[in-house]
Amino acid sequence: MGERVLEADCASCAGLCCVAPAFAKTSDFAIDKAPGRPCPNLDGTTCTIHDRLDAKGFHGCVVFDCFGAGQRITQETFGGRSWREAPDMLALLPIVRQLHELMWLLTEALKLDEAAELHPMLRDAREETDRLAGGAAAAVKRLDLDAYRRKINPLLQQASELARAKARAKGQKDHRGANLIGRRMRGADLRAASLRGALLIGADLRGADLRRADFTGADLRGADLRGADLTGALFLTEAQLRAAVV
Ligand code: SF4
Repeated sequence: MGERVLEADCASCAGLCCVAPAFAKTSDFAIDKAPGRPCPNLDGTTCTIHDRLDAKGFHGCVVFDCFGAGQRITQETFGGRSWREAPDMLALLPIVRQLHELMWLLTEALKLDEAAELHPMLRDAREETDRLAGGAAAAVKRLDLDAYRRKINPLLQQASELARAKARAKGQKDHRGANLIGRRMRGADLRAASLRGALLIGADLRGADLRRADFTGADLRGADLRGADLTGALFLTEAQLRAAVV
């Protein structure tokens, strides 16, 4: 397949992420908003406070990443229509977004030389995921996303294991899914650690050794990464970094 763009292109999107999700008034959003209702800051398809999101209390928008799902649904699945003309677009956003995130993870795994033996399977999985994401609206809505993730995740985990095997310190603890909220880990040796799905909200990771650590799905909101060594970190997204203190 040609290289699918897995980055948001807001200019080609009908503003789906500003309409589809619900907001709860928290530190991430300044307002409550029902799903399917346009955010009051949306003018057509343009955010009127785009350059002041943090100052206006919309940090949740700063750290959101659709991985290119918005423009794909708008332009490819619905031929450039608006969500008002085709409200079905809104229901597709969370599904296609997750499929595009999987494609991003598979693409990252394909960059790992240590996982070369898995590359054919990773390539097939990326193609299949791309095909599913580009299906007709009804087929996308019918997809059992949890089952599909369960099918793909072992492959990503194997790639991560292979990439971290040599770099991992002896006795390195597995922090997969760990609750590390607010944990003091300043200067910790977390080289090649698995932090998959770990809750690192507000954790102090200043100066930590995080080389080759696996960050798949880790929640880094407010985590302090200043001075941490992230060389060769695995599956770490721009949105995760925007959520952290760097
Ligand atoms: S604040 Fe701006 S980016 Fe966030 S949902 Fe509203 S219009 Fe969209």
